[in-house]
Amino acid sequence: MGKKELAAVGRKTTEHEFYASTLKGYKPGKTKYIIITGSVISGLGKGVFSAVLAKLLQDRGLRVSPLKFDGYLNIDAGTLNPYRHGEVFVLDDGTECDMDLGTYERFLDGRLSADNYITAGKLFSQILKREREGKYLGRDVMFVPHVTGFIKDFVRSLGLKTKADVVLVEVGGTVGDIENSYFIEAMRELAYEEGSGNVCYVNVTYILKPGTLGEQKSKAAQFGIRALMSQGIQPHIIACRASEPVAEKVREKVSIASNVPLERVVSFPDVDTIYAVPQMFKDSKLDGAVMDILGLKGKAPADGWNAFVQRIRRPKKNVRVGITGKYTGLHDSYASILHALEHAGAANDCRVHVEWVETSEITDKNAASRLKGLNGIIVPGGFGSRGWEGKIACAKYARENDLPYLGLCLGFQTAVVDVARHVCGLKGANSTEMEPNAPHPVIELLPQQLDIEGLGGNMRLGARTVEITKGSFANKLYGATKTKERFRHRYECNPDYVKRLQEAGLVFSGCDTHHTVMQILEYPKNKFFVGSQFHPEFLSRPLRPHPLFNGFIAACVRK
Ligand code: GLN
Repeated sequence: MGKKELAAVGRKTTEHEFYASTLKGYKPGKTKYIIITGSVISGLGKGVFSAVLAKLLQDRGLRVSPLKFDGYLNIDAGTLNPYRHGEVFVLDDGTECDMDLGTYERFLDGRLSADNYITAGKLFSQILKREREGKYLGRDVMFVPHVTGFIKDFVRSLGLKTKADVVLVEVGGTVGDIENSYFIEAMRELAYEEGSGNVCYVNVTYILKPGTLGEQKSKAAQFGIRALMSQGIQPHIIACRASEPVAEKVREKVSIASNVPLERVVSFPDVDTIYAVPQMFKDSKLDGAVMDILGLKGKAPADGWNAFVQRIRRPKKNVRVGITGKYTGLHDSYASILHALEHAGAANDCRVHVEWVETSEITDKNAASRLKGLNGIIVPGGFGSRGWEGKIACAKYARENDLPYLGLCLGFQTAVVDVARHVCGLKGANSTEMEPNAPHPVIELLPQQLDIEGLGGNMRLGARTVEITKGSFANKLYGATKTKERFRHRYECNPDYVKRLQEAGLVFSGCDTHHTVMQILEYPKNKFFVGSQFHPEFLSRPLRPHPLFNGFIAACVRK
């Protein structure tokens, strides 16, 4: 960056066209940036790519902060339909975000916040708010410099706040989209201001292999990369996604078309498990290339990871777990649960085979045949009444037949309704989400939800303390009497019914600090019948499987 531009940082002025940053104490060049864009198609694994690259740099002793930009106008992911967009992931601070942040957290074994996620909706709502407050000093508010300036501030302030050596920015969508064009422009400006050697651009592209030709074709990738270059960005690294390893000849074509040396055009084929990707990147020296480009030095990486991958690849046992789900068509809507099962499976030396259980046709009569052959069942989170009675039938069957049961959020509520109806004998017991006039509203709106309108961001969200009863089964699983878990719900177990449920043998072994919200339940007559009002799947990590999933899978193995 030249002297004039430098002077503009931190200075209020209306006299020049450089964006006057509001960041105090920012020094260009101190934090390094990696900008990851996609081309050809979306959904090509950019999230995994970004997470793995971040992990490899972290393994070298660097502080890495990831950031995801999504081009949609929703303020956050809370109002998105998981059937279309994949699961809504929840962070400690209650941010409802894209599932890629889950991938980052799992690979980095870290905890992220709203600072790590920005949507076009959040961006524009903040800019428009500033405009109303008169913060633009009479200027016409423009995409350049104001929108791009806001974006650069957001990206840089993450580096400042987290004292990151590297901020890694994943730009959602593909190059050429209207939705991310101004964001990519901001990322171009970033390199101009930060100076050479401080920003590394990576394009993740896709090499097609049409079935009729049976041969890999690079033209679409070339055009995609050209689109990026026409926006003023010269990539340093090209990652070629493909169903199989990308042939050298194809990489050569991409290399010539993009000015990127052949050794930095890396092949990124499909693998059996995403946890094998770090080794694949190490083999292609991707981390080393990024560090060279950014002039970074790091220590030699330690490794506990490969043993974990070996356990995934060579399981000694198999278990079959049923998941009752509304979104059984789109597995991405249950991504974190599937990962949590994989982590717990590896820890128990077994492969977890998941069977999707459509509950809209399950009744007490056919539950036994529908759940036949399963070693355990999970009733996951969900909203609305579709398949609800079938889920209750599954909980009842599991409870009566000692089939391992793990209820997550809605699945916790399902278990409460089952016990209320079938053990307490409360006829018509229900959740008021499903039956507003239920004679026994054993699951009811949380008090703080009563006068909230609208759908966005207003649930009981984010990390909260769970106090675990000493001597309970949960206490044994956690090995602790206190933990923090992530919530996303509107309904809870009605306090008026807690006593009756307890008398029927249900134990509430986890509560909030005021002991008013029931957060873990267990049915000690069974070997494993556990429900959590929170979502343990969000905190499971590859090398640290979540205690509830770990205990559940261990019980499934024994079953
Ligand atoms: N629909 C239920 C509630 O709002 C459960 C929510 C969930 O499973 N995430 O409380």
